[in-house]
This record gives sequence, structure tokens and C-alpha cells, in this order.
Amino acid sequence: MILVTGGAGYIGSHCVLKLKDAGENVVIFDNLSTGHIETVQKLGVEFVQGDLRNPADINAVFENYKIDAVVHFAAFSQVGESVKEPYKYFQNNVCGSLNLLDAMVKHDCKKIVFSSTAAVYGEPDYTPIDENHPKHPINPYGETKLTVEMIMDDFDKAYGLKSVRLRYFNVAGADTSGRIGEWHEPETHLIPNVLKAALGSGKTFNLFGDDYDTKDGTCVRDYIDVNDLAAAHLLALNYLKNGGETNVFNLGTQTGSTVKEVFKACEDITGKEIPFEIQPRREGDPAILVADNKKAREILGWNPLHSLNESVQTAWNWEQILTKFNK
Ligand code: UDP
Repeated sequence: MILVTGGAGYIGSHCVLKLKDAGENVVIFDNLSTGHIETVQKLGVEFVQGDLRNPADINAVFENYKIDAVVHFAAFSQVGESVKEPYKYFQNNVCGSLNLLDAMVKHDCKKIVFSSTAAVYGEPDYTPIDENHPKHPINPYGETKLTVEMIMDDFDKAYGLKSVRLRYFNVAGADTSGRIGEWHEPETHLIPNVLKAALGSGKTFNLFGDDYDTKDGTCVRDYIDVNDLAAAHLLALNYLKNGGETNVFNLGTQTGSTVKEVFKACEDITGKEIPFEIQPRREGDPAILVADNKKAREILGWNPLHSLNESVQTAWNWEQILTKFNK
């Protein structure tokens, strides 16, 4: 059985669907602090409500289920909030992960796929960013993820626990059949925010900064479809099952899109003129973040298939379902 922590969240839930489709038995562990029970109900797998900060909760899962490997998503993930509340982030993301790793070692479970982030690199020295790029995170969120990666290296040396750390760039899109999608409260990400403005809810889309040194003055990001991302987790699990060593991979498309280009894709797909306002730069936003994904392609055999337009289309389908849901 595969344990998925944070399986009620955006990326975790899409990964659960992918694992299920591949015939894996899955148990989700989630405290539902940011994930949603409605999401869990759509997935049709075992569910344990618990908190990684409580060692008894996570140890009970290993006692009640025969866990062969873990895919670990459970974490707080808002950069701005992490700057304001570092204790909350270190306590949950680092101490929670430490409790999980300790429970794994105690129960002789030695394989984990970890949800890491491009935020471990901080302000890029060069792009596209490969895995050897220096790690100098510029916010507590990125620091927590890098700390967990370092702990995992030490757990490999001490206990032989093998980990694959997947450093995500900008995740986008939703399940192609509309069962689940991105559902954050509050929402801070670009595509859902543009689409919420497109729904005519009276919200104006705020574009943060049009004076960057990029082709149209807006930030460049590498948008990777959540279905492609989920596929990488399955490949990473199989890599570990086949005896793979502890490793780290960037997950992105190696293609950059500006905020204006994403906005235009959203207008094209929704067929709407979307209200927007140019705002000052958002603190901590580097001008360009694009992944070098060669390593994931070569070692995991990963091949991202979905275009930005496809991600926007599935995100739009989901956004319309979500409004009905929230009414
Ligand atoms: N962005 C924006 N308005 C929003 C949300 C995001 O202009 O409401 C910009 C943000 O400044 C960045 C890009 O969109 O340049 C991607 O931001 P997001 O929060 O989606 O991901 P991040 O790159 O911060 O992980």
C-alpha cells in the first residue's frame, strides 16, 4: 500500500488518481487544514484524518496498514504566509516531516517521494535552472523544503531510507474529467486568479509588476500541468521500487511563459475580456524561473505532454464547477 500524506490537497489528490489508475492501493493521511473532504470523497480510497505534528497519529497509520512507500505532500505552501509566520511553517513542514520519517524508519518503510519546490533555489543565478544550481531560498517556505531534503540525505546515510525529491516549478491545470482541481483558500496563484476574474464575480485580476527585464515586462514562469506532475510521482515511485538511489529532479516544461501570455491564453480559452489592473511588483518574485528538466527525462523517463493551453482549459472547466460548489 502507498501512503499519500496531503492527499486531500491540489497536487496530492491528482497524484492519488494517477496511483489508483496504475493499480496501486492508496491510503490518504491529511489533517484537512487546507485540503478538502469533498476532494477525498471523489477519490474513493482509504482515508485517515490525522496530523503529522502528532507522532501518535502517523505511527498509527504504519501500525494499521502495510505501507510499502510514501508520497509526501502534506505541508503549508504559501510563500507570503511563511514570511509572516515562520514558526507555523517550520513546525508543520519540518517537524511534521521529521515525525513521518521517524515513523517510516521505525516501521521499516524505506522509500519516499517528496514534494519539493523550485523555491529551494531562490533568486536564480542562471536559467534554465538545473538541479546543481546553488540553493539559496529567499523565504521560510523554500527553507523548510530544503531543510527536509537535507534531513532526508542524513536519513539515507544513517538508516538507508531512499528518497526522491521532486522540485516543482509552477503547477497548473486540473483533472481532465473535472473530478478535482485547484482549490486554495485564499487563492494566490496566477491562473486560478485570472479565471476567477473571468467568471465575472466582480473580482479584478491584479497583475503584479510590468517593469521586469523580460520580453513584455512581466515575470516568466514555467507552467507544468498537474497531470504531468502526477505522472512523474508514479515514475519516481517505480524508480525507487527498482532499487534507485536517493535523487532529486526538477519538474517543469523547460519553456517560459510571461504573465501577460498566460493572461492572453485565459482570455482566448474563456472567450471573455478579463478585467485587470497593473499593480506594483509582489515582494520576492524573481523575474524568470524556468526548469532544466533533462535529468527527469533521462533518468525517470518523464515526458510532460500537456500544453499551457490544455492546463488553462482544464483549470477553467474546474473553476466553473468550483463556483457552483461554493454557492
Ligand atoms: N501573479 C499575478 N497576480 C496574481 C497571482 C500571481 O500577477 O494574482 C504573478 C506573480 O507575480 C508571478 C506569476 O504570476 O509573477 C506566478 O505567480 P504564482 O503565485 O502563480 O506562482 P509563483 O511563481 O509565485 O510560485
